[in-house]
Amino acid sequence: MTDFAFPPAPQAWVAIAGETTRFPVRRIFCVGRNYAEHSREMGHNPDKEAPFFFSKPADAVVESGAQIPYPPDTQNLHHEIELVVALGTGGSDISVESALSHVFGYGVGIDLTRRDLQAVAKAAGRPWDLAKGFDLSAPIAPLHRVNAGAHAAKGRIWLAVNGVEKQTGDLVDMIWPVADVIAFLSRSVTLQPGDVIMTGTPAGVGPLVAGDQVTGGIDGLGDISLTIAPR
Ligand code: MN
Repeated sequence: MTDFAFPPAPQAWVAIAGETTRFPVRRIFCVGRNYAEHSREMGHNPDKEAPFFFSKPADAVVESGAQIPYPPDTQNLHHEIELVVALGTGGSDISVESALSHVFGYGVGIDLTRRDLQAVAKAAGRPWDLAKGFDLSAPIAPLHRVNAGAHAAKGRIWLAVNGVEKQTGDLVDMIWPVADVIAFLSRSVTLQPGDVIMTGTPAGVGPLVAGDQVTGGIDGLGDISLTIAPR
């Protein structure tokens, strides 16, 4: 056994629907601008871009149903509802054709974003890390194991704030489908079991304030909910 100077951090995890078994999270990768309408609402041309990635720390994961205090260092916290892909096996230079065989399961997640920090970072050509990868920034609902080879490729994805629908789309409208996302990412890093990919958000992102009740879901993959608590 390695002798550590102090106890290592506990393993980050995501629940698995209907099981007591948990999915151990290794890394959280996120895809930027993967729905055309959202790309346009952020001021970009979706026809011109290969997928690009950013990441959050594994311990940014938080369970569905959590109360999340309004984060520090922002006046413009945004919601981004996303399909989450959880990898059960890894690899590098994975082909599009074999990519889905690496998927353990799918779930519903929210890429919480400090939009004001992101805007400053974009304008200054600086990294997005602290706009995206802050504490409790990755709520993820219980994962659904891939069942009989059925992969998440179509189905309604939505988010509501206080019962009012804010985001809606369909997985079929992803610019880069799951297999392409895995293949692209695996050319840049060696993917590992436990890696999680948040696959981008449909149009309708917007601000959250303390007291907001956030709900969302994807057809066939269940729902997510969270409450924004006072800072
Ligand atoms: Mn996102």
